[in-house]
Amino acid sequence: MIAGVRLVSAVTLWLAAMMLTACSDKPAGDALVIYTSRGDELIKPLFDQYTAETGVEIRYTTDADAALITRLDAEGAASPADLLMTVDAGNLWLAAEKNLLQPVKSQALETAVPANLRDPQDRWFGVTVRARTIVYSSDRVNPETLSSYAALAEPQWKGRLCLRTSKKVYNQSLVATMIERLGAEQTEQIVKGWVDNLATDVFSNDNSLMQAIVAGQCDVGIVNTYYFGRLKAASPDAPISLFWANQNSSGVHVNISGVGLTTHASHPEKAIAFMEWMLTPAAQSFLANGNKEFPANPTVEPSAEIAAWGEFRADDLNVAVAGHRQAEAVMLMDRAGYR
Ligand code: FE
Repeated sequence: MIAGVRLVSAVTLWLAAMMLTACSDKPAGDALVIYTSRGDELIKPLFDQYTAETGVEIRYTTDADAALITRLDAEGAASPADLLMTVDAGNLWLAAEKNLLQPVKSQALETAVPANLRDPQDRWFGVTVRARTIVYSSDRVNPETLSSYAALAEPQWKGRLCLRTSKKVYNQSLVATMIERLGAEQTEQIVKGWVDNLATDVFSNDNSLMQAIVAGQCDVGIVNTYYFGRLKAASPDAPISLFWANQNSSGVHVNISGVGLTTHASHPEKAIAFMEWMLTPAAQSFLANGNKEFPANPTVEPSAEIAAWGEFRADDLNVAVAGHRQAEAVMLMDRAGYR
């Protein structure tokens, strides 16, 4: 009995050791090492394709954004990671702020990524683009009554608005952008108005928010476009539609998924070559279409499915503002009672 337990523990320890080895806790040799918060089904085929084209082996570790940033920070110079691939400029900005990323001078990246979708100090670059915009019940809302994020604070939306939690970086980035565009005072009034208009408690994710609109619990909300795309792919007849916010003012709030070279990268040339490859048309289409996003490289067309959502004007502020004003946005939302 005891011997059996010992055997199990030994096997468990050996398995645990093998798993660590398979991830990243030993020198990676020649392989390029990537820490990423992106879904396995999205990135594994991309990495496999790159290896097939170039012979460069890629090892990767997936985890939540915050966990990866904490891990990079804790590992310091011993980190095996060459690249951090994550979502939201707020996260990339934070990693750069903690000196976990280093500047990359690359003509290919400068040409492929519009200036507002990359770090002004070249420590991270947008790879794909998502918009965070308004969704509404196609049964109960006339889109002519919609205009801006700010207008969702008006009395006509009392008891009709659904929002995701303010703890999510996506909303922190949106509010950070509003502070930049409208000033803190006006933004706080708007956020208070949103809170007053809530139909129900805030949601933990964009999908349950949209389900609440479909179910009739509320009539309008704010979500990232790819979640809308996923819902429509699964349920084409769901009575919910997209509305491009702020078309008569600053444009729709856009954010990125992006990549940065780690400060202690062991394979910087290989890492930069891979970054540049991700901005080429084939890789852009694969990445953008795989998650129903827009390519960051403006010479690459979005998929027909995404193009069908219609043309829109995007806010051209540098997405780094999501980081610069993140702390301010968090405090403002707290003061406004947005949980
Ligand atoms: Fe997301």
